Amino acid sequence: MEAIQITNILYLISAVAFIFGIKRLSHPKTARSGNLLSSLGMLIAIIATLTYPGKEFDFTLILAGVGIGAVIGAIFATRVQMTEMPQMVAIFNGLGGAASAFVASSEFLSSPNSPFIIVCLSVFIGSLTFTGSFVAFGKLQGFISGRAVTFKGQQAINAVIALLSVSLILAPGLFFDSSMYSGYLNAFFVIIVLALILGVGLTIPIGGADMPVVISLLNSYSGIAAAATGFLISNNALIISGSLVGASGLILTNIMCKGMNRSLANVIFGAVGAESEGGSSDGKEMNIKSYSTTEAAMILDAAEKIIIVPGYGLAVAQAQHVAREVAESLEAMGKTVLYAIHPVAGRMPGHMNVLLAEANVSYDVLKDLDEINPEFEDCDVALILGANDVVNPAARHDQSSPIYGMPILNVDKSRTVIINKRSMNPGFAGVQNELFGYDNSIMVFGDAKDMLNDLLKEVKEL
Ligand code: NDP
Repeated sequence: MEAIQITNILYLISAVAFIFGIKRLSHPKTARSGNLLSSLGMLIAIIATLTYPGKEFDFTLILAGVGIGAVIGAIFATRVQMTEMPQMVAIFNGLGGAASAFVASSEFLSSPNSPFIIVCLSVFIGSLTFTGSFVAFGKLQGFISGRAVTFKGQQAINAVIALLSVSLILAPGLFFDSSMYSGYLNAFFVIIVLALILGVGLTIPIGGADMPVVISLLNSYSGIAAAATGFLISNNALIISGSLVGASGLILTNIMCKGMNRSLANVIFGAVGAESEGGSSDGKEMNIKSYSTTEAAMILDAAEKIIIVPGYGLAVAQAQHVAREVAESLEAMGKTVLYAIHPVAGRMPGHMNVLLAEANVSYDVLKDLDEINPEFEDCDVALILGANDVVNPAARHDQSSPIYGMPILNVDKSRTVIINKRSMNPGFAGVQNELFGYDNSIMVFGDAKDMLNDLLKEVKEL
């Protein structure tokens, strides 16, 4: 067998590992082994590339890169909180896009005969992903305003930049002397600058609750850039892994758009969450009823069916374990306890599933949006733990609300809604929640972990 065949077989094995790894990621039970399998696939692909027949590598430089990258990766992996995961993914996407753009650039600068369109495709998408991802990171981290930043003519400017870039990629001769390498070189650098600007231009008008969709879309872009680079340097592993990232990112984007009942075009161009927008209850007086944990425990004592609704606040408080203990105590009293999982609750897709799996909550009692919504009609208590936007009824009727159209958990249909959060501060979308003022709603203020620890004591004494 020739050496190149062995390399391609190794690439094939790594592709199979990626595909099965991604498949296993779709369920919390198998996600860990899926991650491991994909990492193994990547290791095989790296070994196959570094032993590629006929290629000479500067191993000192490569090992230095691997060493520095491994240290940074290990530090991030152990230090980053679960709630900061979207920011981390945004950084990864951005650096992935930049890496593809760098490889394509080095190929073009060292061999001028490289196919210009493919070079530009990789450099354009990679550079756009880089700046777009870092703007998304800045928004999520609070370095820049998380709201949609809009100004007059913004879409037109973006459209002109995009049109100019496409023209330069397809017909650089319209702008520069394409009979000479220097003409292509000029077009190449202008395309990079335009892509960097476009990445910022396309991301700043997106705000509010739409950030998760953008991160997922940028993830897909980084895959497309990698696949384009794979074609350029004729690397099968890069083509396959880039296509997988591109496709899975698009599928996730689609799932999330459906979860928010929005079209992708509306997310990208709708400028939802801009400064001028407000929710239905903004500025309106609400009749807030604040109860103690003792009173909440008494209400739970009288209930038969209880649905727990976890949200971002539960993750911040790391109260998943005590939430499970409260649920188990209630079950021991003969009550039915279910968990309602909204697809965009928390700060990353599947956040609540991962959180509750960590606390050993059985998968059987975790119900997704479609499954649980009919259950609220005959539910005695909906116990909201640090969730806000995903239970805001304004999404159903208030067209001026940034979350209008997002399917929500219909907790307000329950006989009593107990809401735990620390204050009247809004959630991610930045709007007040009219649910808190409903006649059947009561608030139990406090950190989720502290409140649940108190509640556990009270419930055990019942
Ligand atoms: P929200 O962000 O709407 O609300 C969370 C609430 O938790 C806040 O109102 C906050 O109120 C409360 N809270 C914070 N810390 C604590 C604590 N220690 N104890 C108790 N409560 C606390 O969360 P949801 O899960 O309802 O909705 C998720 C939002 O995030 C959606 O808008 C979604 O679009 C967006 N998003 C989702 C992503 C995903 O992929 N899942 C990614 C990025 C954004 P207070 O400060 O008063 O305590």
